[in-house]
Amino acid sequence: MTVLRFIFGDQLNLNLPTLRDCASHDLIFMTEVKDEATHIKHHKKKLVFVFSCMRHFLILLKKHYQHVVYSYLTDSDNTGSFRNECHRIIKLYNVTKIILTEPSDYRVYQDVLFWQSLFNIPVEIREDTRFICSKKRFKEWIDGKKQLRMEFFYREMRQEFDILMKDGKPIGGTWNYDKQNRKPPKKNLQIPTCFQVKEDSITQDVKSMVNKEFSSHFGDIDPFFYAVTRDDALSSLDHFIKYGLAKYGSYQDAMLDDEPFMFHSLLSFYLNCGLLSPLECILAVQDAYYNGNVPINSVEGFIRQVLGWREYIRGIYWLKMPKYKDDNYLEAKRSLPKFFWTANTTLNCLKISIENTKENAYAHHIQRLMVLGNFSLLAGLDPHEVNEWYHIVYADAYEWVELPNVSGMVLFADGGVVASKPYAASGSYIKKMSNYCDKCQFSPNEKLGEKACPFNYLYWNFFLENKIRLSKNPRLGMVYRTLSKFDEDKQYQIQDHANKFLVSMYQELDSV
Ligand code: FAD
Ligand code: SF4
Repeated sequence: MTVLRFIFGDQLNLNLPTLRDCASHDLIFMTEVKDEATHIKHHKKKLVFVFSCMRHFLILLKKHYQHVVYSYLTDSDNTGSFRNECHRIIKLYNVTKIILTEPSDYRVYQDVLFWQSLFNIPVEIREDTRFICSKKRFKEWIDGKKQLRMEFFYREMRQEFDILMKDGKPIGGTWNYDKQNRKPPKKNLQIPTCFQVKEDSITQDVKSMVNKEFSSHFGDIDPFFYAVTRDDALSSLDHFIKYGLAKYGSYQDAMLDDEPFMFHSLLSFYLNCGLLSPLECILAVQDAYYNGNVPINSVEGFIRQVLGWREYIRGIYWLKMPKYKDDNYLEAKRSLPKFFWTANTTLNCLKISIENTKENAYAHHIQRLMVLGNFSLLAGLDPHEVNEWYHIVYADAYEWVELPNVSGMVLFADGGVVASKPYAASGSYIKKMSNYCDKCQFSPNEKLGEKACPFNYLYWNFFLENKIRLSKNPRLGMVYRTLSKFDEDKQYQIQDHANKFLVSMYQELDSV
């Protein structure tokens, strides 16, 4: 009797439920499969990251367990899919039972559910305990609620896990310091260099393989400096606490053209593939506060993202799938312009955010939300295409976390499950929070005319286009009251500018 313990590429942790009670003769199996790398054409750097993390985790596994089998992507007998790989190993080793931890994505989970009848052996699917809030607990939280606002979920999690609490009350007397977390970048702001690891021979081998096998995929492989082991991921956490955390809160929303990482932690890669656990990050950051090294607005800001947003987003994903993927409340239909892949656009904020994405397989939250996301919303881009782009280009993107952020937070495609109103903003937001406009051919101060920032007229055009669906939203009362004061000619001008822009965005520029 051979028990097969199957580990997916985003489950790289020795505490994984799959490995609980693992006997010495059990077989642990990991495989690099082409289907997963190509079902959408992931960024090259993301593939290097995931495969290198897997190969480093293999070394760790071999230190702890006797019987570990690993299939490399280019092995001649690698069948290219999880299902076929499992079948091959079952036959090869006479496997009589499979144990695994539930996959994080709906599509893979659905496939795994068939394995028992397909292979005719028991398949034990264990709950993924790497999240703080279980699916069951999330369902309890939503019970009887009309609105599923993150803030209230977050407060319950703070109480339940006793994070930043004293005598049953939030430390500092308030739950949320968001108002102190919106400082624009001031001149001469000193940004720390992000944590960087020198690549080893394993990563170099993976780079060659990715260059050869996935040459047509988007994105740059070099420079590659992300951590690929748990030890280095832990050092990355330490580095963030030491150098980034103190100003993380105040400048959370700030953007600078030559600073792609600002004070952000860059921990999402490691959290999402299992190298770090959310609770250990939260506790380490909380300790830094108790040790008196960092202000409350930074600590609370970080903890809200991990304990609040990350857990909430995962809960929403499992609550709403599979329908969530097809939600398109605003019936947005425009296709994604080509410049999302080339960065060949005259809108400087988009150009920089896409260039950062191409180089690093990373853009920080405000670039994703208020530049790229805001543009996608205002331009009425098709949610399927926008989701696919976000899923492809970021090294931390897995459907469970990408989809609710894009369809819920950015595109309002879910009609208000995640956000109470669309996060639409004009050029003045980007002007206030960044230096992108300084080098742009458009002016954020101009509303109409050749020089006018396209975000300005797209903003009003968006509310005109979606009047039927949005004008009754109580949080948009002010917007529609202002809009009603625009005379017909002004409304016509806005729509005319917007229509011309929305046609021109598909024309290729010579060079920018
Ligand atoms: P920090 O700013 O340092 O934040 C700390 C941690 O908080 C992050 O590492 C992350 O784990 C968590 N976090 C913060 N915000 C969110 C959020 N909204 N949802 C989930 N976790 C959050 N995050 C992903 O991990 N994968 C994605 O594919 C992804 N796609 C996104 C798409 C859009 C349109 C938007 C608006 C956000 C998306 N996010 C995604 C959330 C967030 O932008 C990233 O987690 C963050 O930019 C990662 O960088 P960081 O680790 O430096 O984050
Ligand atoms: Fe972006 Fe408008 Fe500023 Fe140009 S002027 S960088 S398009 S916000």
